[in-house]
Amino acid sequence: MLTMCYFPSYQIQAVLKKYDVLLIADEVITAFGRLGTMFGCDMYNIQPDLVSIAKALSSAYMPIAAILVSPEIADVVHSQSSKLGSFAHGFTYSGHPVACAVAIEALKIYKERNITEHVNTIATRFQEGIKAFSGSPIIGEIRGLGLILGTEFADNKSPNDPFPAEWGVGSIFGAECEKRGMLIRVAGDNIMLSPPLIMTPDEVEEIVSKYGGALKATEERIEELKSAKR
Ligand SMILES: *Cc1c(COP(=O)(O)O)cnc(C)c1O
Repeated sequence: MLTMCYFPSYQIQAVLKKYDVLLIADEVITAFGRLGTMFGCDMYNIQPDLVSIAKALSSAYMPIAAILVSPEIADVVHSQSSKLGSFAHGFTYSGHPVACAVAIEALKIYKERNITEHVNTIATRFQEGIKAFSGSPIIGEIRGLGLILGTEFADNKSPNDPFPAEWGVGSIFGAECEKRGMLIRVAGDNIMLSPPLIMTPDEVEEIVSKYGGALKATEERIEELKSAKR
C-alpha cells in the first residue's frame, strides 16, 4: 500500500510505519531549494520511502525526472533484475546521457552558489512583503513558504464567498501583473508565484511592488463589476 504525501505533518510517519505503509513524497516543486532546503522533506523532518523529483533537477533546461527509492525498495527491484538478467525497469529514454549531464551540472551549480542559503536570505522578505497584502478585501488567504506563494481570491474574505467565475478575478490579476512586466500562474481564482531562486533582494522588492500595483488595479476592477451588478 502506498501513500502520496504533499507535505502533511510529519506525525503521519509514525502511523504509516506502524502499519507498514510506504510514503511517497512528491518533491517535483519542493526539491532543490524552493523552500530554502535541498528537499521539502528536510524542512518537515520527513523520511519518505520514495521521492519523485523533476523540474529544478535540471533547472528545467532539459526534460528529466527521477524517482529516489530507499535501499529496501531498490533491493527488491535488484533481486528480481538478477533473475531476469537485466535491470527490468525503464523507459525508452531512461537515463538519457544528455539530460543527465545537464541535471548533474545543475546540481553542481546549486551547491557552488549555495542556493539554499541564498533562498533563505531573500525568502523572509518575499513572504512578508506579499503577505502584508493579506488584508485586501478581495483576498481570502495568502499562503506559502520559501520562494513559493499562493493567493486565493475571495469575496468578503470568506472561503464560502467566491467571486462569480465569469468575472475571472484570477485572470484580471494575472493580466494586471503582465501589464507590469510580471508573469504569474493563474488557476481559477488562485494565483501562484514561484520566482527564480537566484533573484536579488531588489528583485524581491520589484515583485512585491508589482503585486501591490496589480492588486490595487484588481480591487478597482472588482468595485466596477460590483456596482454594475447593483
Ligand atoms: C509539475 C508537477 C507534477 C507533474 O509532473 P509531470 O512530470 O508533468 O507528470 C507533479 N507533481 C508536482 C508537485 C508538480 O509540480
